[in-house]
Amino acid sequence: MPLIDLTIKQAATALAAGETTSRALCEAFLARAEAVEPRVKAFLSLDREDVLRQADEADRRRASGAARGPYDGIPLAVKDNINVTGQPCSCGSKILAPYRATYDATVTRKLREAGFIFFGRTNQDEFAMGSSTENSAYGPSANPWNLECVPGGSSGGSAAAVAAREAPAALGSDTGGSIRQPAGFCGIVGLKPTYGLVSRFGLVAYASSLDQIGPMTRTVADAAILLDQICGLDPMDSTTLPGAHGGYAAALEAPADVRGLRIGLPTEYFAAQGLAPDVRRAVEAAAKTYEKLGATLVEISLPNLRYAVATYYIIATAEASANLARFDGIRYGARSPEAKDLLETYRLSRAKGFGDEVKRRIILGTYVLSSGYYDAYYLRAQKVRTLIRNDFLRAFEACDVLLSPTAPETAFKRGAKSADPLAMYLADIYTISANLAGICGISLPCGTGDDGLPVGLQLMGPALGEKKILQTAQAFENVAGPAKLPELD
Ligand code: GLN
Repeated sequence: MPLIDLTIKQAATALAAGETTSRALCEAFLARAEAVEPRVKAFLSLDREDVLRQADEADRRRASGAARGPYDGIPLAVKDNINVTGQPCSCGSKILAPYRATYDATVTRKLREAGFIFFGRTNQDEFAMGSSTENSAYGPSANPWNLECVPGGSSGGSAAAVAAREAPAALGSDTGGSIRQPAGFCGIVGLKPTYGLVSRFGLVAYASSLDQIGPMTRTVADAAILLDQICGLDPMDSTTLPGAHGGYAAALEAPADVRGLRIGLPTEYFAAQGLAPDVRRAVEAAAKTYEKLGATLVEISLPNLRYAVATYYIIATAEASANLARFDGIRYGARSPEAKDLLETYRLSRAKGFGDEVKRRIILGTYVLSSGYYDAYYLRAQKVRTLIRNDFLRAFEACDVLLSPTAPETAFKRGAKSADPLAMYLADIYTISANLAGICGISLPCGTGDDGLPVGLQLMGPALGEKKILQTAQAFENVAGPAKLPELD
C-alpha cells in the first residue's frame, strides 16, 4: 500500500514492525503535498526541513528502543489557530502574520510527548469565523473532490489536507461546526468533543464557551486514537472536566454492536426547508442501515432548535468581540507604523489587520453587549441557550444518540455564498446546537450526493458520550467501508 494511504493505526503497525520509518512516511506525505498543493492549498505553511528533522529524531528514538509510544514518528497537520512552539500561528489573519508561537498548546504538548510530528499549518477562515475557508486572509482552500468547490470551514485546510492524502490526520477546532462541517464536505471523519473534554489552552480563542479542539481523520478508529491523546483535565484551562477520560480506542476493540441502541431522528432537522433532497436520501439510508443492524429509530422533537443559529450568532460574536480585543497592534502581530498616537495605532492596526467578516462580528458582538441592548439580545440569547440545552437533555432520556445530516447540502461552489453572510451562517444549522448545548458530535461519510460529492452523517451524544458515538459511527463504517478518497491525479 502506498505510504500516503496509511491511517494512523496502520502507520503505527508498520512502524512497529520496522516496515517503514518516520522519514519515509514524512517524505511520502511531503511529496504528495508538493504535487497537489498548487491545486488544493490546504496549508498556510509546511516546513520540509523542520518536518524531516522531527522525523529523524523519531527514527533515532525508535532505533534506540526509546520510542515515545506507538505513534512516535507519525505526521499530523495542525490548524493554524493552535500554538506549536516556533511555528507560525496566523489564524488565517493578517494581524497575526508575523507572529510565531512562543509556547505549546496543551494538546500540542501532549501530542509531542506521544511523538507525533507537527506537519504544517492548515488554512482556515480568519479566526475560525466562516464555513468555507473563503474568509482566510491568504486565499481559500479547495475541496479535493471538486476543486471548484469549498472544503467547508472553518477547519477547511485540515479537512482538505486529510482528504487529499497530504497528511494521515489533522487537528481542527469547532465553535459551531468547524470540524464536522468540513469533514462532511470532504468525506472524512471529524469529532467535536464534549465542552471541557479537551483543553483550550493554546487555542487562539474565538468564542470561549463554545470552542473545542478535535480530530479530523480518515477512520473512526483514528479519531478515537487522537482523542485519547488530547483529552483530559488541564490546570491551564479551568473549564476542563475532572475525571478519568480516555479509553476511546480501546472502546472500539469490541465488535461494534448497535442492537437495542435507540437512535433519535430530530423532526425539526429533517423538516428544515434548506435540506437538499440528495442529502436527505443519503442520511435516511444511513438511518435504515442502523435499523437493519438492530437499532431502534425514534422520532425526537427539539422545539427550540429553530432559535439555534440566531442564539449562536449573538453569543459567539459577543465572546469574539471580547477575545479579539487583545489584537491591538501593541501586544501581538502586525502594527501600523504610520500611526501618530496610541489610539491611531489601535485603530489602524485593527482596520488593516482584520478582514471584513471579523470586523462584522466584532461590531455585532459589541452591539449585543452594549448597555441598552444587552438585555434584549445577549441576556435573552443566554436564556434560549439554556432552553436548547434542556431540549437535548430531554432528548437523551428518550434516545442514546441523535442522527442527522452534518450540513443541509454537499460542498458548494466557491463564491456561491461569499456575498451573503446569512446564507453562509446557515451552513452550520445542524452543527451549531451541539456547541450551544456543550455535547459531543461526530461527522462521518455516508455516500455521495447527486453531484458525486460526499455527504456527512452527524451523530450527537450526551455530554461525555464520546464512546457511544464512536462505537455507533464504527458500526456504520464497518458496513460502508472506510472513507473513499479522491484520486486528484
Ligand atoms: N461557521 C461558524 C462560524 O462562522 C462556525 C465556525 C466554527 O465552528 N469555528 O462561526
